[in-house]
Amino acid sequence: MSFTIQNVLIPVDRAYETVDVQIEGDRIAAIAPHLEPVGTLIDGRNKLLLPGFVNAHTHSSEMWQRGMIPPVPLELWIAELYDFTPLELEQVYLSAIGTAVETLLSGGTSVVDHLVLIPGQELATIATAVRAYRQVGIRAFVAPLIQDEALAASLPNGGIEREHGDYVRSTAATLALIEEAVNQFHRPDEGVNILVAPTGIQLCSDALFAGCIELSDRYNLCRHAHLSETRAQKLLAQEKYGRSAVEHLKQIGFLSDRTSLAHCVWLDDADIEIMAATKSTVVHNPLSNLRLGSGIAPILRYRQAGVNVSFGCDGSASNDSQDLLEAIKIGSILHNTTDFDYQNWITPRQAIEMASLGGAMGLNLNDQLGSLTVGKKADLVLYDLMNLSLLPRTDPIGLLVLGRPVNVVDHAWVNGQSVVANNTVCNVDVNQLKQELFNQSQWNAKRQAPTVAQLEAHYRSVMGLSESTLGYS
Ligand SMILES: [Zn+2]
Repeated sequence: MSFTIQNVLIPVDRAYETVDVQIEGDRIAAIAPHLEPVGTLIDGRNKLLLPGFVNAHTHSSEMWQRGMIPPVPLELWIAELYDFTPLELEQVYLSAIGTAVETLLSGGTSVVDHLVLIPGQELATIATAVRAYRQVGIRAFVAPLIQDEALAASLPNGGIEREHGDYVRSTAATLALIEEAVNQFHRPDEGVNILVAPTGIQLCSDALFAGCIELSDRYNLCRHAHLSETRAQKLLAQEKYGRSAVEHLKQIGFLSDRTSLAHCVWLDDADIEIMAATKSTVVHNPLSNLRLGSGIAPILRYRQAGVNVSFGCDGSASNDSQDLLEAIKIGSILHNTTDFDYQNWITPRQAIEMASLGGAMGLNLNDQLGSLTVGKKADLVLYDLMNLSLLPRTDPIGLLVLGRPVNVVDHAWVNGQSVVANNTVCNVDVNQLKQELFNQSQWNAKRQAPTVAQLEAHYRSVMGLSESTLGYS
């Protein structure tokens, strides 16, 4: 299929230009004023065309728990999350569709889903998410979330001997599962990719990391993990390895130019040098870091050190939405408070580039995606500059990043295929999706999370907090 977007605004240098953009098949074929029209014609007047963003870290099934977990730090939040994790494939399907739709409608054309697996139905969980993303047509990077240690192991011991218990699945069985997922679902040409994605050093053995590295090398897979999200995790790395998590991951060979790491809040200067030297990507999830009190990731220092940075929403239980434009806004201006020298602050254009090209780089696809370049894949988003939230006419990218854009995505394409047209998602009946999300949930302000009650006293003790617990259980 070919089409031409006519008279559309695109950013050039420090200005904008009105051009025609031709797409042939899945690629951008030409960008210039007054091109000979080819294929279907799209009216680009009063619209801005940008490369699609990457929602570079999320967990789709958290959608079922958004808006309800109390304000507590990650280590307690995750205990509650796990106690109520969805166990039905239909829920996995609906939340993957919902995550894809919200990502598309906030400028994303790719999603990295660090997918929580239903115990005993692991492959079926992956198959279900893949089916949902294929249906929507978003470019999918499904990263099955794996670990081989029980949840209690994620807390530092603080000098107290503790029994963590065994995890439900062996390391070997987990690696075999990922290899099977690769064989069944990894189809980069069709827009579906499988990543190796150990959840992080807090719940994974070196053997699991080694197996992931081996699979990544053998099948040319990207690598993804959480890294140094909280102060507790920083303490844990010192307890576990006698060095930082970054130094450890470098030693065991996990860091590379196809490795993206979510959060990276608690890194020091030596760690940042390692991230730059290994060409690893930081995925910044500012709303999750604020919501869970994890801290402010040193994003300006990463940028100064030459570390690639992209944006993620993180799962909907720690955000609690999938609005990528909101993550880009907060993830840009938040750092103005961390450095008095405004010359280091992130400009709206830099933020857009981090979200698109930075996201593509973190997936080792920057030669294919992430910019308006002839020959690259047509993963594109057309914004409606007549939308009230983008008026009056000033700087379109400034309005998009610094404002509060509402329903501004007019069209979106992935691989040259329409996924949003006239502000409507093409391949999903959103009214039906809303009804199904409604039907399968209930208003619910209070519930009992037994694992939080088990962990809270130890967490408070090891983090130097007073003994009184919240009574939150
Ligand atoms: Zn996460």
